[in-house]
Amino acid sequence: MTSPHPLGVREATASRQGSDPDASPARSSVVVEARKLSLVYPTADKPVTALSEVDLTIARGDFVSLIGPSGCGKTTLLRVIADLERPTSGRIAIEGMTPEQARLKRLYGYVFQAPALYPWRTVERNVMLPLEIMGIGRAERQARAREQLERVGLSGFERKFPWQLSGGMQQRVSIARALALQPDLLLMDEPFGALDEITRDHLNLHLTQLWRATGKTCVFVTHSIAEAVFLSTRIVVMSPRPGRILDVIDCDTLPRERKLDIRESPEFAAIAHRVREGLKEGHSYDD
Ligand code: ADP
Ligand code: MG
Repeated sequence: MTSPHPLGVREATASRQGSDPDASPARSSVVVEARKLSLVYPTADKPVTALSEVDLTIARGDFVSLIGPSGCGKTTLLRVIADLERPTSGRIAIEGMTPEQARLKRLYGYVFQAPALYPWRTVERNVMLPLEIMGIGRAERQARAREQLERVGLSGFERKFPWQLSGGMQQRVSIARALALQPDLLLMDEPFGALDEITRDHLNLHLTQLWRATGKTCVFVTHSIAEAVFLSTRIVVMSPRPGRILDVIDCDTLPRERKLDIRESPEFAAIAHRVREGLKEGHSYDD
């Protein structure tokens, strides 16, 4: 974090690649725009280039997955969007603002790989915690927490403690906590990575329904090709370190409304194939 602040912010103009027939013109504004974004971590021995000249445009309402091998800079990119890291060079704008301005306006919610819930707080009080820190009154805190817990299918669990819940349920609590901030942008870093496949399927279905119901813009990090194809409107395939973008795939051959059996369709297989080819091109994937 010793690098200077990212360069100036440019007016966000719709310059997205590809087309999205489902996006109505009123919802076409750009939420994330990165240009020639690079980030070098200064380490004790030699500097580590985590991101190299990343160009990325994310439109409102998009569900974008970042996929690539471990260590390719997916988390770093998410952290730059969230103003948890500063890029070394290049430019990034969140809704036309700097990441810092966007953070201060609480434009995003962040879901970590581990649920990061406090064991001594009930589920509801975990969801209320960021709202408490923001100084939101008790009645509203509770109303928002209950609303979001209902959204993620956890009504009736408000008074439980996190350790009384399964891993999948805990991750739903952390999604509810992020949504309670009423963010425009939901950033998720491998939220289901540690879960078994059946639970993950279930949560993927739940997440896609949630995304459609809320209209949030989502940026989702994953290792799983199937998960990326199932959830996304666009998939960003990244190379091994230093993270570059190898391919951006529009998933517009799939409808926005998806059930799990869509994974059996030829359209799904075709997109999965292209993701796999992209990963192979980056010499990151052994069949
Ligand atoms: P991913 O999420 O794709 O696995 P990361 O963004 O976490 O990758 O990391 C990208 C690269 O940057 C990796 O080589 C990692 O070791 C390195 N890295 C991440 N964070 C730091 C840090 N704070 N200091 C030094 N190197 C880091
Ligand atoms: Mg990571």
